[in-house]
Amino acid sequence: MEDCIFCKMSSGEIPVKKIYENSNFFSIPDINQEIKGHALVICKKHFENTLNLPNILGAELLDCTKNTALKLMKEYHAEGFNILNNNFKIAGQIVNHFHLHILPRKKDDGVNLLS
Ligand code: AMP
Ligand code: ZN
Repeated sequence: MEDCIFCKMSSGEIPVKKIYENSNFFSIPDINQEIKGHALVICKKHFENTLNLPNILGAELLDCTKNTALKLMKEYHAEGFNILNNNFKIAGQIVNHFHLHILPRKKDDGVNLLS
């Protein structure tokens, strides 16, 4: 997809520092590190959101999500993590190429996602 930043990362046009990858997904640090370790799990192919993602990719998505979360917990000494996925503009989706957010969490980190 032209002008899709995540497609450009996937094709190598924009170089990225990958945390983990498998055949259909890769993960990278989010450019916004307001929550330390914030990472994105990105599909290598362009699908707009969760509704467009083929079910068959579910196992690989989980593999990339789990391995990324494990690496982040180790690196940032986190005790847990949140998985966030914005779908459509109203829900906060800015990049229209499927991705999950992984947010490492620590005791008393002051993050309150649901308020
Ligand atoms: P969303 O609002 O779910 O579409 O999230 C898009 C995310 O992509 C935001 O958290 C941005 O900070 C992140 N982002 C945008 N550009 C880049 C980039 N060049 N490298 C890493 N993350 C990015
Ligand atoms: Zn794309």
